[in-house]
Formats: sequence, structure tokens, C-alpha cells
Amino acid sequence: MPVTSIRAAIVPVTPFQQNCTLLWSDSTKRGVVVDPGGDVPRILDAVEQTGIAVERILLTHGHIDHAGAAAELKDRLGAPIEGPHEADRFLLEHLADAGRSYGIGGVRDVLPDRWLAEGDEVEIAGEPFAVLHCPGHSPGSVVFVNREQRFALVGDVLFRGSVGRTDLPGGDPAALIRSIKTKLLPLGDDVAFVCGHGPTSTIGQERATNPFLL
Ligand SMILES: [Zn+2]
Ligand SMILES: [Zn+2]
Repeated sequence: MPVTSIRAAIVPVTPFQQNCTLLWSDSTKRGVVVDPGGDVPRILDAVEQTGIAVERILLTHGHIDHAGAAAELKDRLGAPIEGPHEADRFLLEHLADAGRSYGIGGVRDVLPDRWLAEGDEVEIAGEPFAVLHCPGHSPGSVVFVNREQRFALVGDVLFRGSVGRTDLPGGDPAALIRSIKTKLLPLGDDVAFVCGHGPTSTIGQERATNPFLL
């Protein structure tokens, strides 16, 4: 999925088919891995195929399918972890427990090198991405958006035709809809996004057709 000058590849990981996403610049061959939930060998294969140097590992939130392999990938790549918001600390500190309850092996607790908050910026493939704190699916969920490139990574906040579940610890349905309506919809209809599960979409498509937003 090409966006103007940033290239993207999606690697579905874990039994939850989570969209671990590689983003990189073809000119600099530098990039990031977003949400390495598991299946580290598959992620490393994808990194090798692109030939990129991974500068950082980004987390949209603290659920196991997004963060379960972050500690191992950091060890393998030597790249720092940035995100999510510190409100997800309670999830990241219990990832190994979550792995045991879901029957997923090799999961380790992890804390990022940098917590993120509303208004922060992260660098992805040489481009600045704004951090939006979007609680609701989890209290510390963040979204990464580059307004010039009209491109965002939304984690499990918003999906094509659906929204994130809110029945897990710390979930808040009213906060989730408020996050989407006050922070994501105003980004503009032409903003394309990769979500944590399933196909990509655009803000405009969801504004017009998502039954949770009508
Ligand atoms: Zn989640
Ligand atoms: Zn997920």
C-alpha cells in the first residue's frame, strides 16, 4: 500500500491476525515496525525482504496481539520502543499473563523507552507523525497521523465498518466514540488508514457507512 513517499507492508501476526505494519522510505531504506504482536520470524523475514534498517518499534496500545513480541523484537533489532500512552502500562506489565491465558507462548512483559501523549510527534521513515491519544478501546490507545501524506495508523480504535471492542479491562464505549468523532473524523475524508485488524479504509468511507458512527 504506497503512500506518497512512505512504503508500507502488512504482516498479519498472532492467532488474532493483527496487522503488524512495516513503514519505510525507499530512498533512505530506514523505517519502523508498528505493533509487533507475535510471530517474530515472520516480521524479521519481512524486514529482510525490504532491506530496511528498523529505527524504532511503535505500539498503538498494550494488548497482547499488538505488543506481545515487542520485547523480543527490540532484542533482535536493537531498536527502541515508543508508545503507547502510559494509561496502558497495566496491560504492558501483564503481557506474559495474557499470553498464558490465551495460550500464546514466548510473550514477555514490556515497557517502552518513550511513553507518548497527545501532541507528541514520532518519526516514521523520516516523516513526522502526530500522536493522537484516543482512549476507549484501551485507556492508552494512540493513533499516528501524517496530515501532509493523508495517512494514519489507528490501531484498534476504528476499523472498516466497525470500531474497537470496549469490553476488555479499561474499555469505555462512550470514550471510544468521542475519540473517533473528535479526533479521527476531523482529519478529513481523504485520509487513508491502516487498522489493527482487517482491510484498510478511509475516514470518508467510515464517516459515510460505518454503522457505529451514524
Ligand atoms: Zn486491542
Ligand atoms: Zn488488536
